[in-house]
Amino acid sequence: MSYQVLARKWRPRTFETLVGQEHVVKALTHALEQNRLHHAYLFTGTRGVGKTTLARILAKSLNCETGISAKPCGKCSACVEIDSGRFIDLIEVDAATNTKVDEMRQLLENAVYAPTRGRFKVYVIDEVHMLSTSAFNAMLKTLEEPPEHIKFVLATTDPQKIPVTVLSRCLQFNLKQMPAASISAHLARVLGEEKIKGEPTALRLIAAAARGSMRDALSLLDQAISYCAGELTEASVRAMLGTVDDSFLFAIVQALAQGDAGAALAVADDMESRNLSFDAALQDLATLLHRVALAQSVPAVLSDEDPKRDMILGLAKVLQPEEAQLYYQIALHGRQDLPLAPDGYAGFTMSLLRMFAFRPDDDHGGGGVRGAEAGIPGAGSGARPTRVAQAMARAPGAFDGDWPGLAKSLNVSGMAKQLAQQSELKSFDGDAMELCVPVTLKHVADKSYQDKLKAALQDHFGRPIRLGVKIGGTTGNTAQDQAVASIQQDPFVRDMVETLDATIVTSSIKPVQSAAESRDDK
Ligand SMILES: [Zn+2]
Repeated sequence: MSYQVLARKWRPRTFETLVGQEHVVKALTHALEQNRLHHAYLFTGTRGVGKTTLARILAKSLNCETGISAKPCGKCSACVEIDSGRFIDLIEVDAATNTKVDEMRQLLENAVYAPTRGRFKVYVIDEVHMLSTSAFNAMLKTLEEPPEHIKFVLATTDPQKIPVTVLSRCLQFNLKQMPAASISAHLARVLGEEKIKGEPTALRLIAAAARGSMRDALSLLDQAISYCAGELTEASVRAMLGTVDDSFLFAIVQALAQGDAGAALAVADDMESRNLSFDAALQDLATLLHRVALAQSVPAVLSDEDPKRDMILGLAKVLQPEEAQLYYQIALHGRQDLPLAPDGYAGFTMSLLRMFAFRPDDDHGGGGVRGAEAGIPGAGSGARPTRVAQAMARAPGAFDGDWPGLAKSLNVSGMAKQLAQQSELKSFDGDAMELCVPVTLKHVADKSYQDKLKAALQDHFGRPIRLGVKIGGTTGNTAQDQAVASIQQDPFVRDMVETLDATIVTSSIKPVQSAAESRDDK
């Protein structure tokens, strides 16, 4: 006898057995009982909450041979065929793989024909937000003048990406994430039916790990059954969840805490060799950082049953609160940028390198950031950014000719600070100051940055200062200047500098080339 995975075997087949979506079930039941049927439904919600399951139950309700009903019989040929996924008038499309407009058009051209077996042709389009614009347009034509025998059931995890013109023609239902308690109660029922013993705490662990997704909960339960061989104990489930799941993310956060970019990249390489989804990884990384931040502020929110409790508390100790915040933000950004990245690996590792680039410097106690370790990719070198000497407290108005020292202590932020720190002093007579920046860094010499720097100088000296900034002619290290320029010109970096008042510690930026050269020297 072939083994059927639990998620499929225990897929709810009636509205009553659908766990945790009572509000949607109630509305749909009402509509079906009063025969107030809409021609297009949109089910939204995160993955695994039951969107397509609900769509199939709705298809049965509409096509059950006993009549349109909120309680389809489950026995007639229509119900049986829908349950087994072979009902000819239920057309299920995964938009993630059917985004081509031609396929969509062909599908919709067939919509005009009357259903073969049922009362309605039901089109279930999963991940509908993935459709191309022209595919949406093709669908919109049908939605505008839908034939009587057509029902659309659209499902998406991302309703924001659906055109308003389509949204406005759908009756929308938002499916909730299932509470852990409902999930573990359901798992207990499944285990009872399967005649497998399981400790309640083990089921709660699985429910927590499934994060609102019944499908994930059932597949974890499947894994646990084979892992635990016989009886699901808390200890074995804890071990299972701890190892299969987030171990690589814990390793990455650990590497961040230690400033070991090489170690983090090694983990990314390992993930790549295992073909793991980098999108999911960034999401999980954000989730982990969120939990670390929670643990730092309110340790009590971590449940004793949480299998990762100790690890999260451990990370909460080694990570500064502002680090957790920053990495969380970068993970979110990285996920957003991922579709634009050359590939998943590049997008993921770039996000990690950003985290290292913006790692708050311990000496600053926040605020400042280290420069990017531009020498790291591929090298696996454990090179650390150099610590930067701290700005010294200076008496107002004093100037001993040490321009780099003064530049550091000036009350400027963002790109104006970059202008101060990247420039060379050409002359200063007490009233007029002339600075010079290398051509590669000319973008820091924008008028607006000059004005800010001038204001800071006037504050410092307590009198009007004339400031002139020349481009070119400094005696800087060209490779270094270029590395600094490339970091400064990165749109994300500029964004951080301008909006978060982050500081680029330029001395910690190492050009890739010179890192390679220095390795060759050895
Ligand atoms: Zn039926």
